[in-house]
Amino acid sequence: MKIDITSKPGSIEKNETGGWRTFKPIIDKNKCIGCGMCEKVCPESSAHVVVNKKGEKKGQIDYKHCKGCGICAKHCPVGAIQMILEEK
Ligand code: SF4
Ligand code: SF4
Repeated sequence: MKIDITSKPGSIEKNETGGWRTFKPIIDKNKCIGCGMCEKVCPESSAHVVVNKKGEKKGQIDYKHCKGCGICAKHCPVGAIQMILEEK
């Protein structure tokens, strides 16, 4: 019997890894300058810059896929991302 334990390329979309999280990134939208650094450094492609109703660029987290590694918080140039203990 053959057991395939490897993931197929492009499977990240359907593999929701958010449940692995211990710490959760929270973006302070007032501090965020929409620079896109979080989007560039996130290994899960879970941080994105979106344009809000006022036409401002702001960071946003896809919590279904965010693993809570904290890389985005480390690299945010204005300290807009805080890692807080996840409530389960
Ligand atoms: S890195 Fe920080 S300032 Fe830049 S878009 Fe992300 S949350 Fe906003
Ligand atoms: S905590 Fe890690 S996985 Fe989650 S958005 Fe930030 S960089 Fe991406």
